[in-house]
Amino acid sequence: MPESPVIHVSDISAKIKEVEQAFRRYLDEFGINEPVNIINNSGGKDSGATDLLAMAITGGAYRSVAADTGNEHPMTIEHLKTLHEQRPDKGPVVEIVSADYPEEMFAKRREAISKGWRKKQMVRAGSYRGILMPSLSRADTKFAENWRSAAKAMGWGDYDTPLDAALSALHRTGNPFLDMALTHGGFPLGRQRFCTDELKMKVVLDRVLTPLIEAGCDVVQWSGVRGDESDKRAGYTRFEEDRRDDSGQLYNFLPIHQWTAADVFALYRHFGVKPNPLYSQGMGRVGCMPCILVKKEELAEIAARFPSEIERAAEWELQVAKTSRWIHWMIVGHVNRRQFKPVQRQIRITPHLDEDSGEEVNTATDSRPARLGINTRLPHRDYELEVEAYQGTSMLGPRGGVIGGSVHDAVDWSKTGRGGKVYDLVTASINAESCSSKYGLCE
Ligand code: SF4
Repeated sequence: MPESPVIHVSDISAKIKEVEQAFRRYLDEFGINEPVNIINNSGGKDSGATDLLAMAITGGAYRSVAADTGNEHPMTIEHLKTLHEQRPDKGPVVEIVSADYPEEMFAKRREAISKGWRKKQMVRAGSYRGILMPSLSRADTKFAENWRSAAKAMGWGDYDTPLDAALSALHRTGNPFLDMALTHGGFPLGRQRFCTDELKMKVVLDRVLTPLIEAGCDVVQWSGVRGDESDKRAGYTRFEEDRRDDSGQLYNFLPIHQWTAADVFALYRHFGVKPNPLYSQGMGRVGCMPCILVKKEELAEIAARFPSEIERAAEWELQVAKTSRWIHWMIVGHVNRRQFKPVQRQIRITPHLDEDSGEEVNTATDSRPARLGINTRLPHRDYELEVEAYQGTSMLGPRGGVIGGSVHDAVDWSKTGRGGKVYDLVTASINAESCSSKYGLCE
């Protein structure tokens, strides 16, 4: 086993000093006097280290703010609530804020789908472009009859129409993550990662930063971003004006931009503070559990150690699926979708080399109307998509080739080896009792 890098206390003292000098220098350079220092604290090791640095440098003249997404492990919330008890000089209690999705927002959404779902709707993008989706408010159609069977088989209960199911699910729960997904009619996914914006950035901006700016304060926001985590992060500037705000009063400071994970844990040891206990329970990162971007190995760890978090995600999926027009259409499967004729023809474009000129040409080789059904393959650029009936909506998106599955499908995939086919003995033998921290935390 490789040895953890040894970092001496004197090295950490020098690093703290460097951050302090850099901070003072930036204040001078930007002409900032007595700013309000706000620490973005996620409960993770890097933002926690940033909090400890702020404590050392400002003597406690700062606010540490955490946005609870409602999808955090209870240990993270407990760690945040008790961090001030661990700091040698105590300092401020971490302020925990949460996004709120008021009942009026749900009422608006219910009104919108009550009108919108009555009409047929054409799919305007992707492989299904041109397909007409049916009205979801009628109970007297063949589609509705088949939808009722599918909905029952999925454990959704007895509803006459998809609209009835959606209206029953669209109510405020008070959990920010779930309320966000319900009002969007789906979970955040890939580029549409609205969770970070709505549950973290916006709530801190609205509740904490904007009131300070409006009160005329200069605000320096400290974040625990480290450059060695990705090329994108490496390109961030250590101190700059925040462009989200044109008042010229908001600044971003990345005190540990050049630090390694080993430096961060050495800082914890230096102050005698324990990081979030999730790091000693197999988690390589701390944030939502599960995060929509969770890595394969980490998902296997979560399933082995914290199965109740997976069950919670599965319950959320059932509720959120009912609010998605797309899912209602897709659960019915091939039997009934064939009645919805595509209004455009699917054309397969095949690039090939012209025998005479030797140049690449594109030829339309197939202009039959697309037919949807089990195992139907739709030509779409350079890949083909298998069309099947959805079984739900996975909070973690398609994993292991399963589209329209559930978090349980994702967990099954997480227990497989490379390529998702072969059962991986290493992954399967996770011992939920042992420590497998990636950072050598068990001394
Ligand atoms: S990206 Fe992950 S950690 Fe961040 S808010 Fe979304 S689910 Fe939570």
